[in-house]
Amino acid sequence: MSIQALENDTLEQKCNACEHIRCFKYKDIQSASDDEHTGIIVLPACVKCGAIEYLIPTTIYDEPHPTIGSYGHRHQIMVDVLHERLVKKKQLKRIKRIAKAPNKKEIAKYFPGKTLRLQEDIMEEHDE
Ligand SMILES: [Zn+2]
Repeated sequence: MSIQALENDTLEQKCNACEHIRCFKYKDIQSASDDEHTGIIVLPACVKCGAIEYLIPTTIYDEPHPTIGSYGHRHQIMVDVLHERLVKKKQLKRIKRIAKAPNKKEIAKYFPGKTLRLQEDIMEEHDE
């Protein structure tokens, strides 16, 4: 769990290894050429500890998330939205095995407001 917030052009990340929080622009996100075919997003190395984080978008083969509305589910939505945005910015290729990101209505259910921000205290309040 590492993305804290998604803005239009920037992303806030908390390092899993050292908990350092930082912001960077989408354009600083790289995809190694090997990863073009997997859809895996490679975040820039942590400036404090050097850890590199990989984000894996939902594939068309994945089962629905077991706990809808949970922290983990909402983080996965953010990963999928980030992937979609990087594809639109042509930083990543669109590949068949990656599922489409949730639509705006679906996103709005879990993230009120323009910024997609994870807050651990706002959850478990969504009925289908
Ligand atoms: Zn770190």
